[in-house]
Amino acid sequence: MIKEHVKCLIIGSGPAGYTAAIYAARAEMKPVMYAGLQPGGQLTETTEVENFPGYPEGIQGPEMMMEFRAQAERFGTDIRDGLATEAFLNETPKRILIEDKAEITADTVIISTGASAKWLGLESEERQKSGGVSACAVCDGFFYRNQDVVVVGAGDSACEEAMYLAKLCKNVTMLVRKEEFRASKIMVQRTIDTENITVMFNTETVEVLGDQVVEGIKYKNNKTNEEGVISATGFFLAIGHKPNTDIFKGQLDMDNIGYLNVTPGTTKTNIPGVYAAGDCADKNYRQAVTAAGTGCMSALDAERFLADNGIH
Ligand code: NDP
Repeated sequence: MIKEHVKCLIIGSGPAGYTAAIYAARAEMKPVMYAGLQPGGQLTETTEVENFPGYPEGIQGPEMMMEFRAQAERFGTDIRDGLATEAFLNETPKRILIEDKAEITADTVIISTGASAKWLGLESEERQKSGGVSACAVCDGFFYRNQDVVVVGAGDSACEEAMYLAKLCKNVTMLVRKEEFRASKIMVQRTIDTENITVMFNTETVEVLGDQVVEGIKYKNNKTNEEGVISATGFFLAIGHKPNTDIFKGQLDMDNIGYLNVTPGTTKTNIPGVYAAGDCADKNYRQAVTAAGTGCMSALDAERFLADNGIH
């Protein structure tokens, strides 16, 4: 097992982690990054990204993450494979275990472990992830302009995604598994007031139809067992996200879902020297560009901590 001390440890490798790495490396903090289970994060699951500034023609998500990585490496970030499995953030220095591969102690830790969209778990859903199944309307809705789409979920996210899609698409059908929404009253009202949104209650997805691309959604009414098919080319899941913060429970302040709490306007957690950037601390915006922004902030916060504590 590697035992090593570093000035700045970055956990996670999405846009937040890579941006933190670029800034930390240029500030000569010699950052070490452990890339986690899915190097590049959620963007490696998307196709075209058209809303990240600087790419006027758009770019494929996985390619964009390779460019972020190359930029972080150019300034000397040491990027390694491995998943942080245990954290002892109240110790000085902070100590992190990377599976059974490494024990890293660090003066500063930047947590950019992201969040994972929840999926239904259907085989047909998994198969079509690059052909019309998405967990992000803001990312992918544009590709379904003037088409018919289905949204699954009944929380605020589902309402927000349905309303976003309703502006672009011909018809939006929402599948709600219970008899009622979970979303706030105002979001529900806005959703049902939107002319081209149809809500089907007590309805669950049976199968995403189509071979290479989505052609329709087979559903079932869980009260009557009646089945049917909705013709659609896009299938959007909005059944919640899970921030990847389990290993920090009991040490870092987080909300009831697991999103890390930071001092507003900073990336500071409740433990000095530990910073949170990107989706692991953001349930509202969840965009690559906002993650990159907080990644930058986290490296600047860490740099100031090192300076204030005389660590060179
Ligand atoms: P929520 O956990 O609030 O809602 C998830 C929804 O998905 C629920 O309606 C749930 O159904 C449904 N669901 C879960 N699993 C399945 C499944 N297997 N099949 C079908 N439906 C399923 O998540 P959100 O992402 O919507 O919101 C997370 C938090 O973020 C909330 O606190 C929310 O208020 C907040 N938020 C606020 C926004 C705003 O104010 N503008 C925008 C977005 C989020 P069921 O109800 O049956 O359990």
